[in-house]
Amino acid sequence: MKIREKVLIVEDEHSIARFISTILTSHGYESLGAQTGAQAQSLISSWCPDLVILDLGLPDMDGMEILKSLRTWSSLPVVVVSARSHERDKVTALDLGADDYLTKPFGTDELLARVRTAIRHTRTTSQNSEIARTGSYTVDELTIDYNKHQVLLRGENVHLTLSEFRIVALLGKYAGKVLTYDYLIKELWGPRAGNDNQILRVNMANIRRKIEKNPAEPHYIFTEVGVGYRMVESE
Ligand code: CA
Repeated sequence: MKIREKVLIVEDEHSIARFISTILTSHGYESLGAQTGAQAQSLISSWCPDLVILDLGLPDMDGMEILKSLRTWSSLPVVVVSARSHERDKVTALDLGADDYLTKPFGTDELLARVRTAIRHTRTTSQNSEIARTGSYTVDELTIDYNKHQVLLRGENVHLTLSEFRIVALLGKYAGKVLTYDYLIKELWGPRAGNDNQILRVNMANIRRKIEKNPAEPHYIFTEVGVGYRMVESE
């Protein structure tokens, strides 16, 4: 018998909590709800969920506090739920160790995709099991070859600069997850690099020109406005 994955839904708005729980239950997950931060913290320790969906605005505490204290002892995947107007919150949550976020209002497919991705990534020792197994990551017509440091489009080598390759390589390694501008800049240019996004944007424009059919409507790398970039995940 397949063991059902357990998802703790920390959300004080009943309609949203019920919406999430209905979707998850009908897709084979087991779910439990917590309406307050205190309840959430006690259920995390006693119920041992595989994933936490965490609303940031809770009646008794800020969801960010739960995340911060959780990360001192656990790498349990957390998907943060926040309102569209709070982009800064998303960045802060990701930097504090959230695995992903959902923007209210969100749909069924988006919810399921985030949940699947967040759970899957904790299952593998490497962030991306496909890369660990094959040394490459392929999605549609794009292949990132981690051994040869090459990106191929329909089998043809795409000429990328070193920085461009490293950006694509990082996004591929964490495909399906959003990487914040700040994270990418620090990874690429070191901890002392400023948080000027301009150089990153220039690189991304060049990457898209080289790999996307229509750079204005990207197919491989999406912009998460005000937050960062996300590479599409292969099925
Ligand atoms: Ca709330």
